[in-house]
Amino acid sequence: MNDTDPKSRPGPAIIPRSEHNISRANISPNALKVLYRLKNAGYDAFLVGGGVRDLLLGKHPKDFDVVTNARPEEIRQLFRNCRLIGRRFRLAHVRFGRDIVEVATFRAAVSEADDERLHAETGRIIRDNVYGSIDEDAWRRDFTCNALYYNIADFSVWDYVGGLEDLRAHTLRLIGDPETRYREDPVRMLRAVRFAAKLDFTIAPETAAPIPTLGHHLLHVPPARLFDELLKLFHAGYAARSFELLLQYDLFRYLFPATQASLEGPSGEAALAFIRQGLANTDERVRADKPVTPMFLYAVFLWFPILELARTLQGEGRGELESIVEASQRIVAEQTARTSFPKRFSAPMKEVLALQWRFEERRGARAARFLAHKRFRAAYDFLLLRARCGEVDPSLAEWWTEVQHMTPEEQRKALGLGGRRRRRRRRSGRNAPTLDASA
Ligand code: ATP
Ligand code: MG
Repeated sequence: MNDTDPKSRPGPAIIPRSEHNISRANISPNALKVLYRLKNAGYDAFLVGGGVRDLLLGKHPKDFDVVTNARPEEIRQLFRNCRLIGRRFRLAHVRFGRDIVEVATFRAAVSEADDERLHAETGRIIRDNVYGSIDEDAWRRDFTCNALYYNIADFSVWDYVGGLEDLRAHTLRLIGDPETRYREDPVRMLRAVRFAAKLDFTIAPETAAPIPTLGHHLLHVPPARLFDELLKLFHAGYAARSFELLLQYDLFRYLFPATQASLEGPSGEAALAFIRQGLANTDERVRADKPVTPMFLYAVFLWFPILELARTLQGEGRGELESIVEASQRIVAEQTARTSFPKRFSAPMKEVLALQWRFEERRGARAARFLAHKRFRAAYDFLLLRARCGEVDPSLAEWWTEVQHMTPEEQRKALGLGGRRRRRRRRSGRNAPTLDASA
């Protein structure tokens, strides 16, 4: 497959409707509306990317992306419910209530020869908003299975890059020279892992080979983009598998450096078991349609590094709670610089970790108040994970499980609270540092 010289690139294999399984019945009505309106206005209009791939695999796509030769301004004129977005490249979002269909104009790849201002020194593309034709658009996509087009004009599938064959063989193959493509956009390494995990595909040997030596290019990717990518990796129901592949390809260290250090340290095996269990829980929740949050995800990854640093600080004579607060602070700051960790998630995470020590205190008014704490539930979920991994005595978690189901009278007994007798506040209790605003 020679794709370096655009003139020598083959045209598309066109697979007619009778020879593939994509039915309009499985395409969202809104995506169809967009495709037909573009076609009726005289433009070319195709579905592309994950939508086509998943339909061909007989899966339910989570969304549908449309590409066309209409320019963003022209798209806007066709749809009243349309907004142009994006800085790196302009896209149209056509809105139908809560559903959005993304419409992009065909783009050409930016080759290194084109304009060095478009590339950083590492070969990374920093701007690639160059419109093109469909046969240029196909070659700038990442994997062959993501570069299949469904043509609304005659319901055929267009394949420029051998995507159908790879799809049938369950092979994930990068289009073009892998090393160049990873340098252009290092996130493609994470995408390789993500699709391999999600689709249960094998990464083609040439596509896989350069990854372990190019991982460090991820250090140049903006932290906010890595955060977005992390959520796609770990909140899509394939977190456990994605994690194993990130380790296998030695990419994990560039995402969670402190966690990697823990994995390589004396408690490495325990840390590994803990993360695996945490991610298995996340996958279970996604499958059961329960909400998941980056707060929990980061807690799973950062717990061991924070615990270990806190122990070191304690060894230097700092107090228990002070050490955990300080360790959380430092590890979170380091992590935020690498992959972003918005405050609305990191603040509650720090709280949940610091609250783990409150579970040791099973008697008295403070324990009773803890039950009503607004982070109790999240802290308790995390305690369950720790107990499941033998990181804390399981009987402690059981006790907190039982006490939640007791009647108020039973609770008072379990917590060792007397009748109406007033008790004097303990001075030490009032002066002890606490994170708990309600305490
Ligand atoms: P998903 O089902 O997870 O949404 P997807 O394949 O649709 O998978 P998107 O991130 O939605 O993935 O991207 C849509 C399409 O855009 C991809 O299928 C691919 O063709 C192209 N694409 C996305 N990101 C890149 C990239 N970094 N480099 C090249 N092409 C990309
Ligand atoms: Mg998509």
